[in-house]
Amino acid sequence: MEPFPDILWIEEIKKEDIPSVGGKGASLGEMFSIGLPVPRAFTVTAQAFRRFLVLTGIEEALFKKMEDLDVENAGDLEQASREAKEIVLGAKIPADMRSSIRDAYHQMGKNVIVAVRSSATAEDLPDASFAGQQDTYLNIKGDRDLLDAVQKCWASLYGGRAIYYRAKQGFDDRSVNIAVVVQQLVPSEKAGVMFTSHPITGEPLTIIEGSWGLGEAVVSGSVSPDKYVFDKRSGKVVDRLIARKLIQILPDGKRGTKEVEVAADRQEIPVLSDDEISRLAAYGKIAEEHYGVPQDLEWAIVAKEIFILQSRPITTIRDSPKAQAKSGSMGKILLEGQGASPGIGAGKVIIVRDAKDSGSVEKGDILVARMTNPDMVPAMKKVAAIVTDEGGMTCHAAIVSRELGTPAVVGTRKATVTLKNGQLVTVDGEKGVVYDGAVAAPIEKAVAEACVVAPAPVVTATLVKVNVSMPEAAKRAAATGADGVGLLRIEHLILELNKTPGWYIAQKKDEEFIQELYRGIRVVLDAFCNKPVWVRTLDAPTDEFRNMQGGETEPIEHNPMLGWRGIRRDLWSPEQFRMQVEAFRRLWKDGYHNLGVMFPMVSHPDEFIRAKKMMETWGVNVDEVTLGIMVEIPSSAILIEDFVKAGIRFASFGTNDLIQYTLAIDRNNENVATMYKPKHPAVLKLIDNAIQVCRKYGVECSICGQAGSDPEMAVWLVEHGIDSISANIDAVPKIREAVLRTEKRMVLKAASSRHA
Ligand code: PEP
Ligand code: MG
Repeated sequence: MEPFPDILWIEEIKKEDIPSVGGKGASLGEMFSIGLPVPRAFTVTAQAFRRFLVLTGIEEALFKKMEDLDVENAGDLEQASREAKEIVLGAKIPADMRSSIRDAYHQMGKNVIVAVRSSATAEDLPDASFAGQQDTYLNIKGDRDLLDAVQKCWASLYGGRAIYYRAKQGFDDRSVNIAVVVQQLVPSEKAGVMFTSHPITGEPLTIIEGSWGLGEAVVSGSVSPDKYVFDKRSGKVVDRLIARKLIQILPDGKRGTKEVEVAADRQEIPVLSDDEISRLAAYGKIAEEHYGVPQDLEWAIVAKEIFILQSRPITTIRDSPKAQAKSGSMGKILLEGQGASPGIGAGKVIIVRDAKDSGSVEKGDILVARMTNPDMVPAMKKVAAIVTDEGGMTCHAAIVSRELGTPAVVGTRKATVTLKNGQLVTVDGEKGVVYDGAVAAPIEKAVAEACVVAPAPVVTATLVKVNVSMPEAAKRAAATGADGVGLLRIEHLILELNKTPGWYIAQKKDEEFIQELYRGIRVVLDAFCNKPVWVRTLDAPTDEFRNMQGGETEPIEHNPMLGWRGIRRDLWSPEQFRMQVEAFRRLWKDGYHNLGVMFPMVSHPDEFIRAKKMMETWGVNVDEVTLGIMVEIPSSAILIEDFVKAGIRFASFGTNDLIQYTLAIDRNNENVATMYKPKHPAVLKLIDNAIQVCRKYGVECSICGQAGSDPEMAVWLVEHGIDSISANIDAVPKIREAVLRTEKRMVLKAASSRHA
């Protein structure tokens, strides 16, 4: 019998060849066969790899390294991986195999630059996405480098992550093979990725992300790419988000690639024209129709010529759009609002008009309300998604949903009228849309949680902190690797008790209140060990207290947002303030030196001085503890120097309020939501002024409002010298990435201007 060839060209490959050429190789071959513009490529087959193991005699020694390995033991895993790779890299590729690889390479042309990609034979199967676990080498030129790269790809089959995943997925190391795809590298002017259908819902929307240079910048996430949404039904581009593309990856002219800054005049212009988008989408359609499932494609464009580099099935969609369409589960859009907390939830509607209704909310329901109240929080914890008539990105429903990781759409204006109790709907908290029926399986909450427990382990000079409101979210928040808590809202600790602080005072149950606060705050302090946790004193507007026991005595205010809240209320109700201070005092006494206390709604330095004096009379050594303020009223931003002189240790921008008070826009009023502009020049001027004063005096300057969860705003803040940014749990990874990139760019700029 003829031995299986070491090399297969893409024109020889068919879909069934996965065992020989791996998922990537098979997919390329097949795409070539259906007429997609795939760059020239050949595969070093899995049989060649097997022959290499046998002919070099390393097989047994290699597999022994993984026998009886406890993959949960990181040290053992690391050692086995290192030794296995050494065995593969230490063997010499047999001469005939070397010459087959060389011959194939020469057939591509003279000294062609290629990408060498691992193509594991179990990779890219719908149920076992191994993509990214094995190596890829870009910009390889010449026989020697090519052979080295092939051997390194083989060795990467024994990387720690790959061994771990195989063990967990039940794949036998002995039977998993690897092929290597050698493909002409397209020196792309622009490149990116494309989902042929929406990656979560499976809707017929082609999503294309692109940036300048090689596609590696988009795939690795080192650049924020442009995003284009092409509706396959109308054949039109329905959404585009043009990002600021600061860097690109280019061949370095030697062996690898280099990251260079994008010229200023190209950073903010669109990468793709409408014509290119529709041509790309057309190729995506061919691939999807051919494979029968939505695809995740990599593309590149050079001199207007499109190339498709890779294709693999999207693994996040439960049902393909076709299956959904068939089952009639593609819902029509019932409502649109603001996507306030990402994720998708499907279930039956339950309309909650007041706290009494929330008793009938069951796990997995969709809570629909005019606006949520603190007394609805227990019900909010159970539901699959939340929809409100009113509110914007900083309303109660939005803040609590983000913290719970529950999808939410706010400000729909008419959810309580349009939706009916018991109706089945799907809520997309990313896009701000409510669909009729159960469109997609509610898998995103798990995804969202998975995203936050695996942060990029990077250290940034600007601290990236996290906001917390509920002790039960503390672990999730800490798992982001955040540098501390920039805002712990304590209202939620007591709102759940459903009794106002006034009730505890009237009932002479102050000790109970103090204990509750102490316990709740301590959970967060423990989760963050020695990292700073800034706890904010009470800041609940009177309308939020009204439905609670004791709430009958709350004054009725026309403008609760401008009313009896924040530090002003504590100064007028010393007993309410004392109970909080007593909880803090005990925590400090118990050694929680990571606790800092922050006063909200401060408008004049006198308020800070008075609060400090009161704390002193209650036994706090105010010179030793960390006390700071929220800068959320324009007056405090304007008078920041006086606050510094009054002894604040830190200042944190509460932009949710700062924006509403600067622009006279009620943050909870959906009628003026479009005028609520975090980047309004007046807001930015106030922030910049306060940052510069804080820097001058060495006082930590931070942000904990919702604007700090916006990567673009984070870039601006870092450029203007902020010390720390506190973001929502779900936003920490992207803020960290934005901060890191901005800092790197600033360092590079400073270095190049020094050498200029
Ligand atoms: C703010 O105003 O930005 C803030 C963080 O506080 P809250 O949203 O609780 O008013
Ligand atoms: Mg505020």
